Amino acid sequence: MKVTEHLRRAEGKTLFSFEVLPPRKGENIHSLFSNIEPLMEFKPPFIDVTYHREEFVLRERPGGLLQRKAVRKRPGTVGICAAIKNRFDVDTVPHLICGGFAKEETENALIDLHFLGIDNVLALRGDPIKSEGHFQPHPDGHTYACDLIGQIDSLNHGRYHDHDEQYQPEGAEPVLCTDFCIGTAGYPEKHFEAPNHGSDIRFLKQKIDRGADYIVTQMFFDNEEFFKFEKRCRAVGITVPIIPGLKPLTTKSQLSSLPRAFFLSIPEALAEAIHQAKDNAAAREIGIEWCLNQSRELMAHGVPCLHYYSMGKAEAIRRVAAGLF
Ligand code: FAD
Repeated sequence: MKVTEHLRRAEGKTLFSFEVLPPRKGENIHSLFSNIEPLMEFKPPFIDVTYHREEFVLRERPGGLLQRKAVRKRPGTVGICAAIKNRFDVDTVPHLICGGFAKEETENALIDLHFLGIDNVLALRGDPIKSEGHFQPHPDGHTYACDLIGQIDSLNHGRYHDHDEQYQPEGAEPVLCTDFCIGTAGYPEKHFEAPNHGSDIRFLKQKIDRGADYIVTQMFFDNEEFFKFEKRCRAVGITVPIIPGLKPLTTKSQLSSLPRAFFLSIPEALAEAIHQAKDNAAAREIGIEWCLNQSRELMAHGVPCLHYYSMGKAEAIRRVAAGLF
């Protein structure tokens, strides 16, 4: 079922959802399942599965004398979505990125997802690879998420990436292929490349106009940032549901690693408390309590769903969910 349909059926009750990462090559899917298992008691209507590109060092000779860097897509998102759906009887939301994908590959992934009975996708540009500096699109791919959304929306209307008209294999009836619910990313503290909030929101509106059905936000630690973001969205005519993304801090080192990775800020009171914590166990308790308070306030505000970033660890989210759902 579509994410938007889950939200509609909830009739104002706040839902719980979370995001997981595909295991690295060679890792077992059962470790992913065992991370998901404890969160199922809170009845998530959908689970997101991220998509990543990674940089590798290739050794071209057995002695390792020649080395070069290569970028690869981390496989698994499509298959893992199907496996989670099958195992837990829950809807899944695969993330699709522009980076590394030609339009035809995107189309093929969408058709696979359609055949697997997956009704949702979160359409993203993807981050630049470290050595790239700036985001480099695939030569036959998309530069911005709005163009990827346009492609998915076109396929929803039976138009393939290289056809203006409905796709019609020779001798067959035209096929109306897919009916995806499309999610898109929003940034309460603005995207790091955007010159200002105004331009970031205008491009977000463009993504909605191209076919996105709902927004999930980057994580934030100050609800005021979310409330301001929501106001800005509504002021430019964005009417789709906005789902806040949250993460409980669990280690002292996240005080610097999260701002570095996600270009977000951590409020002084939280940062100071974590800084003063005597160890990671104490920091984790502070992070969970902060996230619980954020979640309670957002629920009281009437958000349709609370979406948690697991980053491979479920326990802190389980503790937060246990206090809420
Ligand atoms: P876009 O919407 O394309 O925006 C990118 C930048 O370009 C912004 O600064 C925007 O203001 C600007 N812009 C947008 N449209 C235009 C235009 N038409 N002309 C000029 N400028 C424009 N990354 C992954 O690699 N894998 C994941 O699974 C993943 N999941 C995520 C989930 C969520 C909920 C969020 C919030 C982020 C996720 N990301 C993921 C990170 C995301 O890919 C990066 O933040 C990326 O840098 C931007 O993606 P976007 O889809 O927001 O891009």
